[in-house]
Amino acid sequence: MGFFDIFKSKKSEPQSVEQGAEQTPQAEVREREERELNAGLEKTKQGLFSKLARAVAGRSTVDAEVLDDLEEVLITSDVGVETTVKIIERIEARVARDKYINTAELQSILQDEIAQLMEKAEGSVENFGLDVKEGEPYVLMVVGVNGAGKTTTIGKLAAQLTKAGKKVYIGAADTFRAAAIDQLAVWAERAGATMIRQEMGSDPASVAYDTLKSAVANNADVVLIDTAGRLHNKIGLMNELTKIRNVMSKVVGSAPHEVMLVLDGSTGQNAFEQARQFTQATKVTSLAITKLDGTAKGGVVIGISDRFHIPVRYIGIGEGIDQLRIFDRHDFVKALFGKGATE
Ligand code: GDP
Ligand code: GDP
Ligand code: MG
Repeated sequence: MGFFDIFKSKKSEPQSVEQGAEQTPQAEVREREERELNAGLEKTKQGLFSKLARAVAGRSTVDAEVLDDLEEVLITSDVGVETTVKIIERIEARVARDKYINTAELQSILQDEIAQLMEKAEGSVENFGLDVKEGEPYVLMVVGVNGAGKTTTIGKLAAQLTKAGKKVYIGAADTFRAAAIDQLAVWAERAGATMIRQEMGSDPASVAYDTLKSAVANNADVVLIDTAGRLHNKIGLMNELTKIRNVMSKVVGSAPHEVMLVLDGSTGQNAFEQARQFTQATKVTSLAITKLDGTAKGGVVIGISDRFHIPVRYIGIGEGIDQLRIFDRHDFVKALFGKGATE
């Protein structure tokens, strides 16, 4: 079956989350999660599919012309030029090796090559992707520009972790606006986590310090530190993040264990720019890419993961508390290019 047939097949309907999902057998949970992922990535997938269908229309083999068109498809799908060139080169090499490749095989080849490009984020599945250890809290510091989805991602993450039986502490180190602290408090409450806060305008490093002290004293398993993203320049950002890191390592020597940059996927190329700035300002060890629902720019995940050599740990596919996913590159490419995606 070719791209046209896939494109024509019926669209998946977003499924409602059933009550008592804890009782459903593994396979059903897995199936539901796959449906939700497909629904979340629907716009990107539709964009890619219609462009790909046009690129291969009337052609049976993957030749130079098809590859040219494919290159354009990927670039206009926010994958980024450098990563696109890499993907095309890999497919060219494959064409040269296998001589004749049917255009109908292109989608599975794309899935293979793209999945290989993306760096692996290998956390423990039991702890929702984090390598939580016994004896000291696992400290995750969350950075990113204002509006990227940091607070929401922390809330969703806290909910998953408490559900997994972990004791979670959240530090409200975005002290810039009172509303930001209140928003985090609402999420902490929903998630069943403890939030440590100070007044609006207080020193973020001081909040981080208090949070870690309290977390250690109460044998917390995980600490999530929210930060402000509205720093006007790189030096200011660097200084503030460095100060927070230093003060945390005074309490837990190995903290932070992870610095996660949250990027708004719907901003497309702008997310690349943010990734560049934050990786220059501090050491970023993982990425969360949010708002992939409702955007056709999901291709950024592929480019950013490749360009910055930082694994994508989570993707956000909605505002709901359960709409954060551990990123799985195979599931992701399958949701974008796979046959099952539109069946
Ligand atoms: P912060 O400034 O980085 O802390 O960003 P917030 O967490 O406050 O999020 C900004 C807005 O993005 C809020 O309205 C969130 O509901 C929304 N948001 C965050 N993640 C997602 C997502 O995965 N999907 C959608 N649709 N909205 C999201
Ligand atoms: P400071 O702003 O010059 O004090 O810089 P630091 O980076 O050393 O610390 C930032 C904040 O973390 C401080 O303002 C304190 O609130 C807190 N902090 C750091 N070290 C300590 C400490 O040893 N004891 C206490 N109680 N708080 C500390
Ligand atoms: Mg926030």
